[in-house]
Amino acid sequence: MTNIAFIGLGNMGGPMAANLVKAGHQVTAFDLVQASLDEFVSAGGQAAASALAAIAGVDIVISMLPAGKHVAGLYLGNGADQLGLLDNLPKGSLVIDSSTIDVETARKVGLAAAQRGIDFVDAPVSGGTAGAKAGTLSFIVGGEQSCFERAQPVLEAMGKNIFHAGDAGAGQIAKMCNNMLLSVLMAGTAEALQMGVENGLDPKVLSDIMVKSSGRNWALEIYNPVPGVMDGTPASNNYQGGFMVDLMNKDLGLALGAAQSSNSNVPMGQQASQLFKAHGDAGHGGLDFSSIYQHYSNNKV
Ligand code: NAD
Repeated sequence: MTNIAFIGLGNMGGPMAANLVKAGHQVTAFDLVQASLDEFVSAGGQAAASALAAIAGVDIVISMLPAGKHVAGLYLGNGADQLGLLDNLPKGSLVIDSSTIDVETARKVGLAAAQRGIDFVDAPVSGGTAGAKAGTLSFIVGGEQSCFERAQPVLEAMGKNIFHAGDAGAGQIAKMCNNMLLSVLMAGTAEALQMGVENGLDPKVLSDIMVKSSGRNWALEIYNPVPGVMDGTPASNNYQGGFMVDLMNKDLGLALGAAQSSNSNVPMGQQASQLFKAHGDAGHGGLDFSSIYQHYSNNKV
């Protein structure tokens, strides 16, 4: 059993923290929303009145927050009058940030932690809310080998695949690369299927052909974007559930920001980003990202 503080009990953090409790850890949590804290207490956890109160006597802090500014505020503070958690944790503590954030913030927090003798890993996740509930998330970890090894057993209580991508910030980079590729694959798959349908093909037949041909990919085979082609996909459920267009747009924004910093050439990522942004701006941000299929038929030139 480990004493853990968990900050951020949202759609992902709530079930992740509950899985830590189920695994026998002593977990004290803080969130700005009282209802989330109440739910966590009914799952067997302990609620704290602030993030600072939550870290009292713990060995490990885990955070699952919306964006880089929240993570920087939590760990580094919000100005001279408000110290961050790093200034209040004893040397030898371990910090695991699982939020999906910009690489620069992840590296900055990692460096500040190292300067204080605190272990740090960025450990963004893949697998969505269903994976968070089932404890089957993939964790993509950046940090020193010794920090990774320390985090691994705790992450195993919340996930199935734990990858070590490299040094601090590498987890965020790997996650961005994956999601940028996913956006390109989904847009390309939707585009090809739409063209086939408009030329009289049955999307199921065309999907079967392409799955056994060189166009095979995850979006086509596992997460087909055309309604009715596969059971159990968001496309066959009015694009409800799954991975929202708004979240894909957030991740693409982070990916393009990182590409700019490294002067990387990402024309496909930029094109996919424009498509998903236009789709979100048209009022579909809350739909699953495979609904980009509808964007093609809704936006004829
Ligand atoms: P969410 O908005 O549901 O939860 C964030 C929680 O953080 C909220 O409960 C909010 O009250 C809390 N919070 C914000 N600032 C805080 C502070 N200073 N102190 C304490 N609590 C604070 O978001 P989510 O869907 O749980 O996502 C969390 C992170 O995981 C994001 O970075 C997101 O990009 C990433 N992610 C989400 C999914 C998904 O499918 N939802 C999948 C993979 C990764």
